[in-house]
Amino acid sequence: MIPYSRQKITNSDIEQVKKVLKSDFLTQGPVVPKFERNIADYVKSKYAVAVNSATSALHISCLSLDIKKGDIVWTSTNTFVASANCALYCGAKIDLVDININDWNISIENLEEKLVRAKKNKKIPKVLITVHFAGQPTYQEAIWKLSIKYGFKIIEDASHSLGAQRNKIKVGSCKWSHITVFSLHPVKIITSGEGGMATTNDKKLFSKLMLFRNHGIERNTKNMLSKNKFEGDWYFEQQFLGYNYRMTDILAALGNNQLKSVDKFVKKRNLIANLYCKKLSGLPLKIQRINDDNLSSYHLFPIVIDLKERKKCRKTLFQLLRKNNILVNVHYIPVYRHPFYQKNYNFNKKDFPNTEKFYAGALSLPIFYDLNQMSINYICDLVSKSIKSYID
Ligand SMILES: *Cc1c(COP(=O)(O)O)cnc(C)c1O
Repeated sequence: MIPYSRQKITNSDIEQVKKVLKSDFLTQGPVVPKFERNIADYVKSKYAVAVNSATSALHISCLSLDIKKGDIVWTSTNTFVASANCALYCGAKIDLVDININDWNISIENLEEKLVRAKKNKKIPKVLITVHFAGQPTYQEAIWKLSIKYGFKIIEDASHSLGAQRNKIKVGSCKWSHITVFSLHPVKIITSGEGGMATTNDKKLFSKLMLFRNHGIERNTKNMLSKNKFEGDWYFEQQFLGYNYRMTDILAALGNNQLKSVDKFVKKRNLIANLYCKKLSGLPLKIQRINDDNLSSYHLFPIVIDLKERKKCRKTLFQLLRKNNILVNVHYIPVYRHPFYQKNYNFNKKDFPNTEKFYAGALSLPIFYDLNQMSINYICDLVSKSIKSYID
């Protein structure tokens, strides 16, 4: 069985986890802050906050940017639902921006047009959540400029793109955003089992993220609101409504050790992507155009069938690959197409022509560290055979 992505676990990963299991701390202990420091150093951000999933990280990022009822949050159509759900957890309204046809990330033109209209209607979003689809960084500096012009904050949903770079700057540095969120789910670039990480350079956002992660509880006497702060050493106080989104030391040990291999993982994913590009060239399909200034982390290798019968051809290909134990997937069913979003929001698919065209022919081929040449050849042969049957 060949999945579309999977983890690479080594003996040293197992040793690090074992060490924690024999230690005093199973829940958050000394390894979590170590992991946070190492992530921050790696992406060159000032701070990092570890949580139990990227979904939680997105939620507390929205809360830390003060998203509440009545606020507006925008994100890309072409993403996992968590990038939109996080705004709804806070009672905000969500709106979506269409993708561009070259790299399937948020379209800067559509974003700007939408902002012009929003300004007229006084509906500028409070936060925009950008998504580096498949591991390819967005034109984040252009989006940053727009954020200054129109006055909104930015969260990067970098669930796909740990290890990716734009102009030699690592995603997560928050050079062009307020907070960046990574996922540490096993299909992503590195894993801690389940897990997420938020990075920022803003000290205030950092302390809010830390509090929201842990029930809103403050333990540092310097920051106490209550005048009773000298009651005794037992004293702590809850300052607002937070959650238990903590990461355990067991998982942090795994994530921290995986982090040592992140560049190796990204390099291998790029190698596989190059092989696919070579082997699939000449077929009527599109691959993601990678900007010259970017290094993609290639969390996914999506292809889009470029035929009139794209929908039918994609279905045939999907079924053929699945029948041969190649567990391909489609990333993503556009957010607005889910029944929950259809029922509760007035999205019209006609507003997202690029996403519709993308989705009709999209399929993600397997890409992960241990995928070997033989499997790649096998997959490409099936893809080629299946698509060619639609040309003849
Ligand atoms: C995987 C993913 C998430 C959610 O990550 P979890 O760690 O599973 O919560 C959010 N956004 C995107 C774009 C993702 O791919």
